[in-house]
Amino acid sequence: MDLFEYQARDLFEANSIPVLKALVATTPAQAKAAAEEIGGKVVVKAQVKVGGRGKAGGVKLAENGDDAYAKAEAILGMDIKGHIVKKVMIAAAAPIESEYYLAILLDRSNRSFLVMASASGGMDIEEVAHKAPEKLAKVHVNPDEGIDEAKALEIVRRGGFGSDVEKQVADVLVTLWRTFQSSDATLVEVNPLVKTVDGRVIALDGKVTLDENAAFRHPDYEGLIDHDAADPLEALAKARDLNYVKLKGQVGVIGNGAGLVMSTLDVVAYAGERFGGVKPANFLDIGGGASAAVMADGLSIILGDKEVKSVLVNVFGGITSCDAVAKGIVQALEILGDKASKPIVVRLDGNNVLEGRAILNQANHPLIEQVDSMDGAASRAAELAAR
Ligand code: GDP
Ligand code: MN
Repeated sequence: MDLFEYQARDLFEANSIPVLKALVATTPAQAKAAAEEIGGKVVVKAQVKVGGRGKAGGVKLAENGDDAYAKAEAILGMDIKGHIVKKVMIAAAAPIESEYYLAILLDRSNRSFLVMASASGGMDIEEVAHKAPEKLAKVHVNPDEGIDEAKALEIVRRGGFGSDVEKQVADVLVTLWRTFQSSDATLVEVNPLVKTVDGRVIALDGKVTLDENAAFRHPDYEGLIDHDAADPLEALAKARDLNYVKLKGQVGVIGNGAGLVMSTLDVVAYAGERFGGVKPANFLDIGGGASAAVMADGLSIILGDKEVKSVLVNVFGGITSCDAVAKGIVQALEILGDKASKPIVVRLDGNNVLEGRAILNQANHPLIEQVDSMDGAASRAAELAAR
């Protein structure tokens, strides 16, 4: 889960990473009030979960409350790379002398954590990484050892920070590591970390990604979810504990096991090329227990997607055998009644496949068509969707 900047800022503040006072506003009037409460110059910052807001005009300095009103009016409603701005953060403006870069992330390909630090931060860190990679220190961190003061200083020196700030930046890095670990983040990025003209080191922008797999030990994660942005079908699926991801396509897909579903998506997309570019409409893994209730929930979510023209159920019977799955499908269609209105291609294989197929044949449901092979089923579902 990606956080908004203001949420990242709150997390930093709660962990004693130096930040400036800030408030969130959803209207220009609130922005004005916030600016007056903070006092002095402020920055008005678009709250969207995408980088490069500054360059897109989503970060503006304001002299006072009235100016903050005008800047917020310009930024609210703005479209930044497809994200509509609904909130702005009003923050005390920092008199910046230098902009730095600091990040800790989970480096999956190296099965390790990676710290990146550079005294040449600011808006163009990608350019620094590309054109002057020696200015960006990249240091792997052993999770058992973590980052202590000495390690932090070593990294900071490699990042080219001057002796005037290295102690302060190293302190921030140690705290950032603790924050990263204790919040189960996969990314914490501060860009820019700045030195002000009076020599303070402050985190001016924060980007944080939390690992949702750790949500069970963070009850506070729930309050960070952006419910406005959630796709309604995905939200419904989540409420019913289904592993569903909405995609843009016409063939609804249900399968058991993430690997099987992923390959089903590929096979549908491949078959779809022969039918005018038909594509899979979703990922849905109903897991091991393909009961009637789970099947009915899955089907109803998929049938609730207006773009879906046909459904492909691809199940490999294992612990839950094919006859149980077939019964689940038949009962699910009884539960759904008239709500089931689109053709459903079923491919069953694996444990008790013959019994499963026999149950579906016997049910003789007008919407169900059985195809024995995965390629054949995908092709038929794509063909039906193209009609
Ligand atoms: P991003 O473009 O989405 O990464 O947004 P940032 O929050 O990083 O802001 C972009 C740039 O705006 C920063 O690199 C700074 O140069 C500038 N900026 C942000 N906050 C302040 C501030 O308080 N004072 C000043 N002078 N500039 C700021
Ligand atoms: Mn930034």
